[in-house]
Amino acid sequence: MSCLFCKIVEGSIPSTALYQDELCYAFADINPQAPVHVLIAPREHIVSMADAVEGDRSLFGHLLWVAAEIARAKGLAKGYRVVINTGEDGGQTVDHLHVHLLGGRALTWPPG
Ligand code: 5GP
Ligand code: ZN
Repeated sequence: MSCLFCKIVEGSIPSTALYQDELCYAFADINPQAPVHVLIAPREHIVSMADAVEGDRSLFGHLLWVAAEIARAKGLAKGYRVVINTGEDGGQTVDHLHVHLLGGRALTWPPG
């Protein structure tokens, strides 16, 4: 298994766990872009959002729900941003689907 996030999900590469359940694993980004920067990855290896299939519909909803729960737990009452970089133009650098949760500062728009 060569996928970095598969190794993080199964624990062979260490990470700071923030939440986990039977479907996903959430951990602190190694290079945080905001005071709160959490990555939420499915346990299953799905390359990107573009690779999702019909059977992944409920998983996608679950990942967003978990992001909202972590945001509440982190006290991000002023707001936050949820990002799924997808593919080359989307700026995806790790080819295992993950949701970014960013918060704790005012985020600018549009993104680069
Ligand atoms: P992407 O660019 O694919 O949307 O996001 C990949 C994210 O994974 C980046 O924000 C990057 O900092 C983070 N990342 C890359 N390698 C590691 C690692 O080994 N551990 C953790 N915790 N985060 C990582
Ligand atoms: Zn993987």
